[in-house]
Amino acid sequence: MHVHITYTGGTIGMVDSPHGLVPGADLEGWLTSLLEGTPLARSVSVTSLDPLIDSSNATPLSWQAIVDDLRSHADQTPEAAFVVLHGTDTMAYTSAALSYALTDLSTPVVVTGSQLPLGVLGSDAAANVTGALKAATSGRIGGVSLFFGHRLLAGNRATKSSSWAFTGFESPNAAPLATTGAPWQWAAQTPTGTGWKDAAPYARHDVVVVDLAPGITATRLEALLTPLPEAVVLRAFGVGNVPSQEPGLTAVVERAIAAGTAVVVASQCHESEVLLGHYEAGDALARSGAVGSRDMTLEAAYAKVQFLLSQGLRGPELAAWMGRSIAGELTQ
Ligand code: ASP
Repeated sequence: MHVHITYTGGTIGMVDSPHGLVPGADLEGWLTSLLEGTPLARSVSVTSLDPLIDSSNATPLSWQAIVDDLRSHADQTPEAAFVVLHGTDTMAYTSAALSYALTDLSTPVVVTGSQLPLGVLGSDAAANVTGALKAATSGRIGGVSLFFGHRLLAGNRATKSSSWAFTGFESPNAAPLATTGAPWQWAAQTPTGTGWKDAAPYARHDVVVVDLAPGITATRLEALLTPLPEAVVLRAFGVGNVPSQEPGLTAVVERAIAAGTAVVVASQCHESEVLLGHYEAGDALARSGAVGSRDMTLEAAYAKVQFLLSQGLRGPELAAWMGRSIAGELTQ
């Protein structure tokens, strides 16, 4: 089987510089020696995106560059598997974004990277890349997944949970798709969604993520939302509660929605299911037209808002799609 690798940057291929780690390792040479003697030797092609980036510099346009590369290779080699090498910092945003844009692709896509560069003794780079290759060529998965630290997770259910541990990602609201071992343990099935036909390319939309904290005032929230963005992901407490007794605070959200800004309420809890009507403190938002992010991760919710805006959806139409699974990103 042919595997195409899209290399986007990240620690995996970084080297020291006077100002810290930057892309610069011979990733293709390293891959050739890693795969020598395996069934994949000489069956791998690599695109290195230009420029290679630290994933903290990624934008929705970077997501689209990956989509474009994968689509062009899907046309050339339909029997392929895809691996994306990516920095860990925003890997979960990218894997969620790819999952929405590629629901029509039959080729599995596995995203991975590493906590330590490939040239460092004790690096997790080789284990993660070979694990991702094994998952991608297994014939057992479709869609977009993320392999890291011995686990294969759904790409749109994952979140970076550690800046140093080799098990750097979790999927708090969904079981892993597979766990490595001898043999690997696989989940019974990979969840899917409604899919999306002829997805328009990602554009860079004005979406803000706002974290609430005890003591926030209506004036501060209003200032954070001025000028009004196209959408807000409001990270609230617990099941989606906000300080509803703070004078004027829910009115700020109501005015934003009335002016056409989509408001998605997410939770600050690692494990969560947003239920806006559960407490009075969340109900006011639901009545004003805000929509809960259910059990989506922040990364999945943010990338989904960018995706829906890129498809031309706004206001209530966008809000309705937040509650529907496009690619298995929430529990129906
Ligand atoms: N800053 C790096 C990046 O996200 C971190 C990593 O790859 O682990 O590109």
